[in-house]
Amino acid sequence: MAGIEIKNLEKTYANNHKAIKGIDVSIKEGEFVVLVGPSGCGKSTLLRMIAGLEDISGGDLFFDSKRMNEVHPKDRNIAMVFQNYALYPHMTVYENMAFGLTLKKMPKAEIHQRVTEAATTLGITEYLDRLPKEMSGGQRQRVAIGRAIVRQPDVFLFDEPLSNLDAKLRVQMRTEIKRLHGQLKNTMVYVTHDQIEAMAMGDKIVILKDGYVHQIDTPVNVFNHPKNKFVAGFIGSPAMNFVSGKIERQGELHFINQGMKISIPEPLRGSMEKYVGKTVDMGFRTEYVYDKGLEKERRLSTDVDIEILVVENVGSESYNYFKLQGMDNIYSYRSSSSHAHSPGEKLTIGIDLERLHFFDTETDETIL
Ligand code: ADP
Repeated sequence: MAGIEIKNLEKTYANNHKAIKGIDVSIKEGEFVVLVGPSGCGKSTLLRMIAGLEDISGGDLFFDSKRMNEVHPKDRNIAMVFQNYALYPHMTVYENMAFGLTLKKMPKAEIHQRVTEAATTLGITEYLDRLPKEMSGGQRQRVAIGRAIVRQPDVFLFDEPLSNLDAKLRVQMRTEIKRLHGQLKNTMVYVTHDQIEAMAMGDKIVILKDGYVHQIDTPVNVFNHPKNKFVAGFIGSPAMNFVSGKIERQGELHFINQGMKISIPEPLRGSMEKYVGKTVDMGFRTEYVYDKGLEKERRLSTDVDIEILVVENVGSESYNYFKLQGMDNIYSYRSSSSHAHSPGEKLTIGIDLERLHFFDTETDETIL
């Protein structure tokens, strides 16, 4: 097993496109780290640099204290699982899993032991004689994972391994991979564009955009304490609501726009002083919006009058989409299905004052 240190790593492709722009990430031995970000942010490039499949243009990569920049992929003791499974179509499941070990000239008995053990772990023992084309997508992905396990690598690398599976299977497989990590305890680096998958799986998640790291933290912390507006909007579903408004002193400090006048919570008043008279963005999550008529316990903002436009009832809860007075954007508010709303309904809501986020409009950084 190995920990991974990524120091000021850069990647410039042959066409001069800079895909990774000086990244630092520290991955502890045994940690499950997810690289997540929108398409094109550089997550596959970073993973492939760890694997040795892409040259490193600048900076350093260490496995434990060993510098890996120039080490050949086959000497890195990593195993990679790809989105398209990359199985050999003419080989049986057993042969696919055994192939890498056979190449290494491992004794047959040991290969047999490793393959059967991995097959048991993954529940694919009964398919060992089948060809990949005789298996479903989920089963094929298990074979690809099995092929990685038998190599007993220091580091597992996953490149969007579940993207080709249907939604239900994806959720099932992500639980299986997480369980597998609990069992094997290897260092795992996992790439996905799906923030829900990232939140569900990672001990730690690395949020990338445009070749830069925007935040590295636990799922809970990136949700509750996003460092900037991009992270705030990227993590969470439905996405965080944002409104612009001015900071004004009316007695105490307030965030004010056409539809809202919200008292700035006490812990933020000091740092908000320098924004008096200026515009800031306020973010609030759909989960922390309440029907004023129903919620008595929490400290809510002053009344905000809204009109519901669209309701999505997803079973246990409803997502209500609304407009604020004088504004074009559409915002969301989550209610329990027992308090379902209907389009056209007028409602007074309040936002949990302890759950507000404010952002500097010039830098997009969170105001703390
Ligand atoms: P992600 O995995 O986050 O979707 P990638 O790491 O695949 O993103 O790509 C990051 C950026 O680098 C993208 O803008 C992509 O178009 C570019 N890129 C990827 N591979 C190459 C390549 N071989 N040559 C030039 N540009 C590339």
